[in-house]
Amino acid sequence: SEDRLIAAKRQDEDADNSIRPARLDDFIGQKQARENLRVFISAARQRGEALDHVLFYGPPGLGKTTLAQILARELGVNFRATSGPVIAKAGDLAALLTNLEQNDILFIDEIHRLNPAVEEILYPAMEDFQLDLMIGEGPSARSVRIDLPRFTLVGATTRSGLITKPLRDRFGIPTRLEFYTPDELEEIVRRGARILEVAMTDDGAREVANRARGTPRVAGRLLRRVRDFALVAGAKQIDARVADGALLRLEVDARGLDAMDHRYLKCIGIDYGGGPVGVETLSAALSEPRDAIEDIIEPYLMQQGFVQRTPRGRMLSQKGYGHIGLTPPAAARA
Ligand code: ADP
Repeated sequence: SEDRLIAAKRQDEDADNSIRPARLDDFIGQKQARENLRVFISAARQRGEALDHVLFYGPPGLGKTTLAQILARELGVNFRATSGPVIAKAGDLAALLTNLEQNDILFIDEIHRLNPAVEEILYPAMEDFQLDLMIGEGPSARSVRIDLPRFTLVGATTRSGLITKPLRDRFGIPTRLEFYTPDELEEIVRRGARILEVAMTDDGAREVANRARGTPRVAGRLLRRVRDFALVAGAKQIDARVADGALLRLEVDARGLDAMDHRYLKCIGIDYGGGPVGVETLSAALSEPRDAIEDIIEPYLMQQGFVQRTPRGRMLSQKGYGHIGLTPPAAARA
């Protein structure tokens, strides 16, 4: 749905930017990815070569775009950004690639949504830094080969399984991003509060962090909304009580689940007797696109153990039942 906090990515992009970390040292969490990238950046710099192609995958709002920008900055190269659905035809991609300078980063968000004809010309570009283009049509058509500068493609996708194997195989550095721990999110919220000059106690930051669905983007949004409530209520600083009051008004519950999560859990628990129920059925029942359910709603609910994925469909767990205030039927308790 439109007003969902983490779905509305692009609208709030400017607001996000003020607290977006610009250097690897300011990037909190994702320790393993961060440490590996630091090594690869340093090696590429020492050799004066382009970094190998990088694929970031994981749920929205975990920092894929941010890390791509950080890579460019740390490498001292240009950053060019586009997204899968925007590149309609081979010529669009060719225009992007031929404008790159040596070692530049080309970032393709939602790379799983590239059209197959475009993907086809991306393979030799990634592998041999060559572009094979067809010029003209019919009997007079001919192919031309263009040499490209060595560049780094950074792709982002919500699930690595969404992209084709030949594309996936061409990324030397596949990097999976994980949900953030409450400690990491607390640090992100405290940093955000400092930058936005919001007076906030540590327990206030903790409260927002605990309810941010493991996601920095959500933490940033909640911080801004809590700040609005505090301002209007005349609170001098945001402590846990002020944060809790604001979050409840935003319909973010004690575990950080929002109205959409509740609709989802109740749909399985009440309308489908706890499941198993297929994702297509849920999509129809909730009037939400299947992608939104699989990319935005489910990963966190599954990671937290509210729902389980089985070969026959989604099932509400005992914890899921408890959360919506229902007792599981005897079978589900076993
Ligand atoms: P994605 O591309 O994975 O959807 P983004 O990189 O756009 O996510 O991150 C969303 C927002 O969350 C960013 O604007 C940034 O402010 C914040 N953010 C992401 N990762 C971090 C982090 N590790 N530390 C601090 N803020 C972060």
